[in-house]
Amino acid sequence: MKKKAFVTREMVEEIVKTYPTPFHIYDEKGIRENVKALQEAFSWNPGYKEFFAVKATPNPFIIELLKENGCGCDCSSLTELQLSYASGVSGEDIMFSSNDTPAEEYAYAAKIGATINLDDITHIDFLEETIGYLPKTISCRFNPGGYFSIANSIMDNPGDAKYGFTTEQMYEGFRILKERGVENFGIHAFLASNTVSNDYYPELARQLFTLAVDLREKTGAHITFINLSGGIGIPYRPDQEPNDIRVIGEGVRKAYEEILTPAGMGDVAIYTELGRYMLAPFGHLVTKVLHEKHTHKEYIGVDACAVNLMRPAMYGAYHHITVLGKEDAPLDHVYDVTGSLCENNDKFAIDRELPEIAIGDYLVIHDTGAHGFSMGYNYNGKLRSSELLLKEDGSVQLIRRAETPMDYFATFDCFPIFEKLRQENA
Ligand SMILES: *Cc1c(COP(=O)(O)O)cnc(C)c1O
Repeated sequence: MKKKAFVTREMVEEIVKTYPTPFHIYDEKGIRENVKALQEAFSWNPGYKEFFAVKATPNPFIIELLKENGCGCDCSSLTELQLSYASGVSGEDIMFSSNDTPAEEYAYAAKIGATINLDDITHIDFLEETIGYLPKTISCRFNPGGYFSIANSIMDNPGDAKYGFTTEQMYEGFRILKERGVENFGIHAFLASNTVSNDYYPELARQLFTLAVDLREKTGAHITFINLSGGIGIPYRPDQEPNDIRVIGEGVRKAYEEILTPAGMGDVAIYTELGRYMLAPFGHLVTKVLHEKHTHKEYIGVDACAVNLMRPAMYGAYHHITVLGKEDAPLDHVYDVTGSLCENNDKFAIDRELPEIAIGDYLVIHDTGAHGFSMGYNYNGKLRSSELLLKEDGSVQLIRRAETPMDYFATFDCFPIFEKLRQENA
């Protein structure tokens, strides 16, 4: 399927008059339509809720937009909790799915009433010692180990993942928690990442529903929700077939009606914690071509770099590129598209077939709406970009300003050098 940018060259030429490149821009219309389709796909389950994985796109405007569409937040750190709470999401609308959790983060999560999802059996004592009690509702993260496969094809390797309770620990943990007064239980698992398959959730659901029925039988625990977490992927490559969320929702419903309903557990709520699926396709990194370089290879140097989008450097991830204004031109050139870091892995594309590129062209790097800006960092003293929202009415709203050198220097503000740096930036 041909990937089409949601901005045109004309739109970008207008936007840069106010907000220079590089920037991430998000498509409000696409986000809204997508979240509505998700809600519909799971509307058969009265308790269904999506807790948006804040780490994917930690921006209060995005959190509020999703909240308007019925979503809560999934957090895994103090600042993600604070951002969600300040955005008007609190109490049971926050899921705290952390690991290796510091005490102050549990304390804050408990203070704002978030549902706590324990990553390990030892955290039962740790949580109780930290906050002085155990909440009435608690969730445990499950990791069966081994490989996660569908129809003999391996999708991921939970046995090598640091997260979660083993099967035995789930039974033991539920017994301990029940003894200590916990009344409502949740089960959570995240067993495969970025799955471009309609079978992941239904297969995961089958495993968790079967476990839930047995846990209830053996421990008497009252299970109120099952959290399928994240992991639904998106087609980063144009030749990949996108997931169909209706098929996924129906697959989970089928497993529910086969396993939970007959066991008298037809009141269990289904939760999801999607990040990538909610936002990735609805974000672009827009960057301007600064240089062409003809050496051992053909290079296009742009004004964004890996600090604005780390996935290609970190995972060798593919991100599709559109040269704005040349959407229909032949792909008759081969380029490496690079940023300016002093790191040779700072390449958005390697040996990519693209139309002929000129200095001053604008490139759209696709699918950066999740795990894009948020994975940013400051290596080489590079600054984080702005974030923009393309509104449904076609206007553009700044939802995070770009960093300035003084933001980069801010943590020297308790030292004498800060004044000199300030003068340099006056
Ligand atoms: C990262 C993460 C998610 C979201 O994952 P996606 O692949 O972006 O959907 C959900 N839950 C937890 C606990 C996570 O760590």
